[in-house]
Amino acid sequence: MSEDCLFCRIVSGDIPATIVHQDERLVAFKDINPQAPTHFLVIPRAHIATLNELSAEDDTVVGDMVRRASLLARELSHAENGYRMVLNCNADGGQTVFHIHLHLLAGRPMTWPPG
Ligand code: 5GP
Ligand code: ZN
Repeated sequence: MSEDCLFCRIVSGDIPATIVHQDERLVAFKDINPQAPTHFLVIPRAHIATLNELSAEDDTVVGDMVRRASLLARELSHAENGYRMVLNCNADGGQTVFHIHLHLLAGRPMTWPPG
């Protein structure tokens, strides 16, 4: 827990969010500024600032994040049409909140390359 981290404060319940899933390791909630009809963020409860700080012990939680996002997509019937998962790192990656988070975007066709 990092006191000055927005997403740690969502995990602790200090800051409200529309939670769509939580378990002992993860919390998933709606993005406050959705970029698609479905836009969820899946985060670890543990504070990890950026993808650069990942260690081998984090492999299972990162796997859980990906699999949870895919289960949420399936629950909302996006599996067949498809969806996108995004992880941004630092300035060039467009990261604005420094607690790793996986974006799940779905419900419209996505374009490539990203901006
Ligand atoms: P990043 O740009 O770091 O990859 O993504 C951060 C995301 O967090 C953005 O999509 C932004 O809309 C979302 N976000 C920022 N502040 C809040 C908040 O207070 N609550 C929620 N639910 N999402 C937030
Ligand atoms: Zn944090």
